[in-house]
Formats: sequence, structure tokens, C-alpha cells
Amino acid sequence: MSDRKAELSRNLTAVRERIAAACAAAGRDPGEVTLIAVTKTYPADDVRILHSLGVREVAENRDQEAAPKAAACADLSLNWHFVGQLQTNKARSVVGYAGEIQSVDRLRLVTALSAAAVRAGREVGCLLQVALDAESGERGERGGVAPDGVEELAAAVAGAEGLRLDGLMTVAPLAGPFAGRQRAAFERLVEISSRLRADHPAATMVSAGMSADLEEAVQAGATHVRVGTAVLGVRPRLG
Ligand SMILES: *Cc1c(COP(=O)(O)O)cnc(C)c1O
Repeated sequence: MSDRKAELSRNLTAVRERIAAACAAAGRDPGEVTLIAVTKTYPADDVRILHSLGVREVAENRDQEAAPKAAACADLSLNWHFVGQLQTNKARSVVGYAGEIQSVDRLRLVTALSAAAVRAGREVGCLLQVALDAESGERGERGGVAPDGVEELAAAVAGAEGLRLDGLMTVAPLAGPFAGRQRAAFERLVEISSRLRADHPAATMVSAGMSADLEEAVQAGATHVRVGTAVLGVRPRLG
């Protein structure tokens, strides 16, 4: 085994153990929580190693980086999640490789993604990114729709050809009432998700929690955690 494979294997085991422990503490079945490896800034070779270690869900946050990486791994069976802020002019590219777009946060993007999906003859899963620090009608600093905009945006995705409404995503806010209160933030997301599911019962995904706060997310009821650093190592910079 290469050194890198041994390292990634150790890291993955540790993260899977953290998820299992958090599930045990919360009285949840570990099968309810899916680990998504966030591979941004790391090469396609690492994605291949992760695949050989059983990872099937991977995430990226920039199309310029994700598109070539997904192409380099096209022979592997992987589900690519797009988790970054997305410009409408990138919709076509992202729809070409992503099975799940977790950062849907405005109507114009829904229109662009739907057109791209129809054109590509694909159905793409969508999560609405909720900005728990955003005021009514505004977007969060790192993207995301304000909680009171979720209903309208969900209806738009549900009615858009080529798109499937799968659930909600959030990033714990750095500012506002939830700053430093990850658990409360994720509980709020789960509450919004419950309301959403009254109208859209299939929209069951709740994507929350990263390397530093995956326990809080599991405790709150997340179905998907997005883990970069704890699996791949500290990123050199940016991303
Ligand atoms: C980078 C990133 C992650 C992973 O963060 P880590 O702290 O490295 O685990 C999760 N979600 C999003 C949206 C990201 O951009």
C-alpha cells in the first residue's frame, strides 16, 4: 500500500469511527448517515485512492477544478456533489458531471440548471442551501437562501424539468445568531427540513456538518456530512 493510501485509509477509519460514535450517542443507526469526501484542492489520484477504499460520494466546490477531476475519474462509479457557490454560466458544465447540486440558492440558478439538465437529457438532484444568517429576501455571505425563501425556491425546483428536489444543505454560519452554535444551527436546519417534507416528502436529505462539527450535525439529525480536512488533510490554502 502506498503511503498516501495508508494515510487516507487511517483518516477514513477515524472519520467513520467519529460518525459511528456520534450515531451511538444520538441513538441513530450509522447507516442513516452518509459520508461525502470533499476532495477540493486534492488531485484525482486521491479520488482514485478514496474510491479503492470504498468511498462513492465525493464533493467539490469550484467547477474549474471539479470538471477536469470528474473527467479524469469518469471510469469510476462515483456520485459527484457540487457544494460551492455556483454562477449560472457554469450550470451546463456542472450538470455534466454532478449527480447532486447542494448549493441551489436562487430562482435564476434553478432556471439555468433546469435548462442545462434538459439539454443534457439528465435528471439532477438538488439541495437548497439555506443561509441561517441571512435576512428575509437576502442571500448569505457564503451563498444560501434565507429560511423564509425556502418554500418558494423548493416549489421552483420541484416544478422544474430535469431537476429533483432532494433536500437541504447548510454551512454553519460564522456570524449572526448561530455563530459558534453549530448544534443549534443544524437543529434549525432539521426543523426547516421537517416543514419542507410536509410539501415534498421525498426531499429527505439534510447535508450538514464538516470536519470540525460533524458530531453536532449527526446529533441534530443530518443524513449527509461533508468532510474534507479530516479525510484528506489540511488544505494548503483557499478552498
Ligand atoms: C470545504 C467544504 C467542506 C469540508 O470542510 P472541512 O472543514 O475541510 O471538512 C464542506 N462543505 C463545504 C460547502 C465546503 O466548501
